[in-house]
Amino acid sequence: METRITRRELLQLGLAGAAGMALTKLASAQAPQRTNGRVKNIIFMVSDGMSAGVPSLADEFGKLVRGKGSFWHQLLQNPEATLGFFDMAALNSLVTDSASASSAWGSGSRIFNGQINVLPDGTRLTPIAQVVKQAGKKVGLVTTTRITHATPAGFAAVQPRRDDEDDIAPQYLNVVDVLMGGGLRHYAPNRRRDGKDLIKTYQEAGYTFWNSREQVLSNARPEKVLGLFYDSHLPYTIDHIHSETLQRTVPTLAEMTRKALEILSDAPNGFLLQVEGGRVDHAAHANDAAGIMWDQLAFDDAIQVVFEFVANRDDTLMIVTSDHGNSNPGLNGMGGEYEASNKAMALLKLAKCSFEELPNRLRNATSPDDVRAILKEQLGIEINGEEASALAGALKGNFPPIWNRQHRNLQGLLGQILSNYNGYGWTGTSHTADYTWITAYGVGREEFHGLIRNTDAFYKMLKLFGLSFKNPSMTPEEARKYMSRAPRIRTEDWA
Ligand SMILES: [Zn+2]
Repeated sequence: METRITRRELLQLGLAGAAGMALTKLASAQAPQRTNGRVKNIIFMVSDGMSAGVPSLADEFGKLVRGKGSFWHQLLQNPEATLGFFDMAALNSLVTDSASASSAWGSGSRIFNGQINVLPDGTRLTPIAQVVKQAGKKVGLVTTTRITHATPAGFAAVQPRRDDEDDIAPQYLNVVDVLMGGGLRHYAPNRRRDGKDLIKTYQEAGYTFWNSREQVLSNARPEKVLGLFYDSHLPYTIDHIHSETLQRTVPTLAEMTRKALEILSDAPNGFLLQVEGGRVDHAAHANDAAGIMWDQLAFDDAIQVVFEFVANRDDTLMIVTSDHGNSNPGLNGMGGEYEASNKAMALLKLAKCSFEELPNRLRNATSPDDVRAILKEQLGIEINGEEASALAGALKGNFPPIWNRQHRNLQGLLGQILSNYNGYGWTGTSHTADYTWITAYGVGREEFHGLIRNTDAFYKMLKLFGLSFKNPSMTPEEARKYMSRAPRIRTEDWA
């Protein structure tokens, strides 16, 4: 199915200068139609797995730990920002995963969970990165996950199984100009299953390879960048701020975003940039309240960087949103007249590590007293003896009765126990069906006001760019017969 565009076809498309690009042929073999676009640049920002309750709590958390509320909170009060909601359902479920969600934005078609830009019958869709690239724009993907992970991939790749990230890694070549995030393991020859050196492949195609924070902070502005700053996902922000080594080597989302904007702003025909705060989702799966808050603040810093870029121009639109809720953290009313809620929530500022790191620190705990002491040290919360016994048992695989099965694991149990102290309640440990927030600012913002179906994002962005392109799609009824063929994929960081 995947064919290379020939030099002659490129000439026909009026892209002579781009001849030699290894673009995948557009599904309908046609160039995007041009209309009068009003927008030169779009920056699409995703806090992955950010439940509706997160922004208000992150604002309060920011005041506690940094002495200032969230920038997003300020932006929402700006009369020139619009507020809307996405209906993010997948083709086979009210609850979407990140692959289906990003594909819906990125292709204009709902698909099954677990896939990237592929209809249930195997029809390959053309992702938005390819459409805008053909129109002469530049494209960037910046994330705190592996760059091959579902949310970035949904804008630029086509893959029947989202977990085949070794196969997603080469697809950005000459389609995406600026790549920054984690995921070295899918590019380095000693980490890929096939032993191919994709770093070299990208370098030969003119990409500058970066692997340290210093390079992001330098004055360098290479035209094309492959920046991979960690083997897998970038570390959680809470672990990053507590490690000098990580701070030295791994850039923040805001730093990567600033550099991406610097590079892309040179593009004569404009650009599309996706920025993902990807680990909010992972912390939510882990019911890790402090982990969510710190990564949300890191995402918030990136919002500010983008806002400052957009506010100085009259040709750029920024969209800030999420792909789905996850475990729906909410601060419960605690104590008489709920007067204990604020104090409970404030305990989060004492946490020193993520729930990814916590099991390592609990490894040597053999007794309930050990568990209590370590949690007090790492999270600043003193649990009672009964709770400590339950956790000590769970560490050995013996779980107490837990009637919500999603919580029958170490992180789920920990989330339940800690909620007695910090007040954060959880619906489970998986994604939820809620509408997600949208804030839009800049020229064209009115397109993202109100309740919007996820698939409309693709057509709205193209319309604002002055382009039109139609992907095939399928109704839920047409898709039903393919349900048995839906991918059955479960990974530890199913997101
Ligand atoms: Zn997730």
